[in-house]
Amino acid sequence: MRFSREDWEKNFAGYYKGKVEFNAPMRGHTSLAIGGPADIVVSPEDPVSVKNIVMLLSRLNVRFVALGGGTNILVTDRGIEGVVVKLGAFSRVEIINEEDARAELFVEAGAMLQKIVNLCRDRGYTGMEGLTGIPGTVGGAICGNAGSCGSEMKDVLASVVLLHSDGTLDRVGVEDLDFGYRKSGVGGTDIVLSANITLRRDDTDAVTLRTENCFKQKKAAQPVSGRSAGCVFKNPAGMSAGRLIDEAGCKSMRIGDIEVSGIHANFFVNLGKGTAADYLALMDAVSARVKERSGVILEPEIRIIGKE
Ligand SMILES: Cc1cc2nc3c(=O)[nH]c(=O)nc-3n(C[C@H](O)[C@H](O)[C@H](O)COP(=O)(O)OP(=O)(O)OC[C@H]3O[C@@H](n4cnc5c(N)ncnc54)[C@H](O)[C@@H]3O)c2cc1C
Repeated sequence: MRFSREDWEKNFAGYYKGKVEFNAPMRGHTSLAIGGPADIVVSPEDPVSVKNIVMLLSRLNVRFVALGGGTNILVTDRGIEGVVVKLGAFSRVEIINEEDARAELFVEAGAMLQKIVNLCRDRGYTGMEGLTGIPGTVGGAICGNAGSCGSEMKDVLASVVLLHSDGTLDRVGVEDLDFGYRKSGVGGTDIVLSANITLRRDDTDAVTLRTENCFKQKKAAQPVSGRSAGCVFKNPAGMSAGRLIDEAGCKSMRIGDIEVSGIHANFFVNLGKGTAADYLALMDAVSARVKERSGVILEPEIRIIGKE
């Protein structure tokens, strides 16, 4: 169901504080700079507004989706029906307990992941070194269980606070979620509001060195300055999707303005005017070539959101 400006004004006057964008092009909200308009994008300023939105939209049967930095999604050219909820105003990071050997952090979902990686580097906490250079928010990193260079989000998480579509809150321990390779079991109509993270103390210089080494490796091996959404496909068990794509001769393959990166074949880069249709066509072409060459069927890592 489409949700118009009139619907918004009728239902949310007095129940919401924060920015509201109507018919908002999603290219302005994603690292790929691709995507048709969402009916509405909201950036609530306080928790009551988030709760009111989720509860009222659910009652009205209007779809909504949470969005962090938009660095792991492809929004279709026809855009998103319903409401996109951005949690950028919730970016608090606080050390709530610091002992000799460990520390516990409280982090809000809209905080940038790199803020925490940097805090760990500067204070000598280990566990997040490999997450250096991953753009986006804590909420997005939890949903996709972001990881690289031997670190994964789930390994430092203790618990998350979820807002359910009926407006109720739950604090869920990491062991009660369904974490796996690039998945958490969180998402759908549940919104991550915050998380508690547990970290172990290590030598500050050693943590700094590991973080910097990982960062250097990524800068050399990924098209970090291009418009991308990170890895397009998941690595099949024991294999590298990038290598399979490279071996299938797909490096620098291009459809419209979307190109398989010459630096890392599992990154597709928007050269300027790329569309979601081009991106999806390139995904199909690349996976067909990989299947033909190696028999492996690649699965998407990026999340595809919006009207087909
Ligand atoms: C240059 C580059 C390098 C990258 N390198 C890596 C890498 O090494 N490893 C890796 O894992 N990823 C990598 N990525 C992908 C991406 O940055 C990560 O997956 C990141 O954690 C996504 O965070 P985000 O806030 O941008 O999420 P978004 O893209 O905004 O959202 C991703 C998904 O999470 C959901 N979501 C977001 N926030 C919430 C919330 N609060 N509650 C409920 N659902 C939510 C969204 O609905 C969506 O389904 C890279 C991307 C780029 C552009």
